[in-house]
Amino acid sequence: MHFEYSAGSMIFRREDSRILFLFLVREDGELDIPKGHIEKGESALQAAIRETKEETGIDITPDRFFKRIKKYFFYEGKEKIMKTLTVFLSEVHTSKVSISFEHKGYKWLTYEEAMKQLSYKDTKEVLTDAKEYAERLWEMQMLNNDYASLPRSTAEWKLSRNFVPGEGPLDAKLMLIGQAPGRSEDEQRRPFVGRSGMLLESMLKKAGISRSSVYITSVVQFYPPENRVPTESEISICKPFLIKQISIIKPKFVVLLGNVPSSALLNIGSVRSNHGRFFESNGITYMPTLHPAAVLRIRKLEAEMEKDFKALKARMQQNGSRHR
Ligand code: URA
Repeated sequence: MHFEYSAGSMIFRREDSRILFLFLVREDGELDIPKGHIEKGESALQAAIRETKEETGIDITPDRFFKRIKKYFFYEGKEKIMKTLTVFLSEVHTSKVSISFEHKGYKWLTYEEAMKQLSYKDTKEVLTDAKEYAERLWEMQMLNNDYASLPRSTAEWKLSRNFVPGEGPLDAKLMLIGQAPGRSEDEQRRPFVGRSGMLLESMLKKAGISRSSVYITSVVQFYPPENRVPTESEISICKPFLIKQISIIKPKFVVLLGNVPSSALLNIGSVRSNHGRFFESNGITYMPTLHPAAVLRIRKLEAEMEKDFKALKARMQQNGSRHR
């Protein structure tokens, strides 16, 4: 058996309220996505970007979190070939395509049109995932645009004006929710990138969970000056946005880091006496745990937080939750 590795991208653009996907038409009439062999020394991502440029003339920046791997085999003469295909997802803002000699045409199709015309099961499966993901991307962008504009529309805004959006796959099975961004997060506009983030990442790693598989955010997504605890009124302004973000991601598990998220979402007053317990609500399993900043201050709490994350991982495995 011979092994081959290739990579490509599902490409979409928005036209009015429709999402259109790009397919290339092969000589035999079959529809395909831009894809090709991963060259020596190249990553799957680099190969997908290069192949897309060669086959369509389009420069893509694939979504950082969408990646699907499909394995299938076929015969070339008598030889069995086992193929591993990595597919990324890229939004583009052009309808202009310059095809290469390898294809005889191209089509921009809606999901429904493409599903009727595609023959391969694997491509149909990736397209279905891609369509759902593109819809979530769109919903999250619209919501976050409104959220980011709060400082302009709210009287007496006392938080930073820099919006720190959540980060991670929009279809993550696990969501982590902190209190509010700190100074480093405010500067970089990314959640949990400071010292708390490093501790959180090490907790995830010890439990066998990769940071890139989880969606990370906070109850309040603007930095409270001097790192103060957000006020009740700030929490009540921000909480509806968090609730909508949860409904877009639809996680199976949510970890609440510290008192602010535990109180905002579960009405739990003290994390110290409830951490590591599981609470079911609306089809989601919530687990309050300690906030990494508290563990950085009181190092003896580290072992407790570690235990919580390991219990979470075990619970997720019992649930058959898939981790990408
Ligand atoms: N602490 C939080 O609660 N959120 C962040 O994003 C960073 C630190």
